[in-house]
Amino acid sequence: MSDTTIRLIDQLRESANEVFDRVGGGVEGEEREWLTGLQKKMETVSANIKDIETAASQFNGPTNTLMVGNLDADSSVESFALYTDITRSHRWLDKTHEYAGAAAAYLSGNTLKRSYSSVAKSRRKPQTNSHIAQPMHLNRLIDGVNKMFQDMKLIISRPGNTQLNAIVEVKLDRVLKAVLIFKGLMIEWVVVKGWEEELLKSDGQVDIWGESRFQVFQRITENANAAMLHFQSPVYPDLAIRSFMTYLHSFNSLFSDKCKQCGMHLHNHLPPTWREFRTLEPFHEDCRP
Ligand SMILES: [Zn+2]
Repeated sequence: MSDTTIRLIDQLRESANEVFDRVGGGVEGEEREWLTGLQKKMETVSANIKDIETAASQFNGPTNTLMVGNLDADSSVESFALYTDITRSHRWLDKTHEYAGAAAAYLSGNTLKRSYSSVAKSRRKPQTNSHIAQPMHLNRLIDGVNKMFQDMKLIISRPGNTQLNAIVEVKLDRVLKAVLIFKGLMIEWVVVKGWEEELLKSDGQVDIWGESRFQVFQRITENANAAMLHFQSPVYPDLAIRSFMTYLHSFNSLFSDKCKQCGMHLHNHLPPTWREFRTLEPFHEDCRP
């Protein structure tokens, strides 16, 4: 905080004290005069608050993250424990997020089963504008992702011409294939398989429930569903889709990545199948931070 703001806060404290003193002292002399005086003092208080607001909005100091980083350098005794407390809370929050993600993955699986079959079989519900607008919007988004990554190809289809649901098949550079189920602009379900595995069932339909034969892709399927929930944002669906696709694309180095924790390619015969959501750094399941 700058010297100016500290000075302004002092002024505010002083003017507020004057108001309380005056009120605490009760009406003295002529009532009308006393009230005018009080009003003036209160105007000073609001002026002081405005000054602080202006000063604070111009304040161009270090960002929040840096300030948190500097907390343990604060010389006052009460703040010594703050940094540890804050990092502990952050870790808790991350864990909660993760568990909620896993729980929601199961739940979203169930709702999907219901919504997917009901939408495909019956189209009794009248279509609203947003549903009609969304297919084109999603098409454009998927086009955009195709341009973002040369080695990842996405193909979108809408079985039964449903306007609400879409299936996106992903092929990532001879490493993996994936099926994503969209409801509107939200990803509802993800299945990841090996490059040589089939995404289609024998009847030519996309196999959205069949899991990979390989443990490595079963793990990635689980993690990708958690990632999908992590990135999900009803407010910024475009950003959520792009973030998730960037996450999925990070598996293009799956078989050459070394784990950030132990530095090895393989652990329990598996490559690093976990990606840290923010940095996309690779970790083995057991080496996760
Ligand atoms: Zn490891």
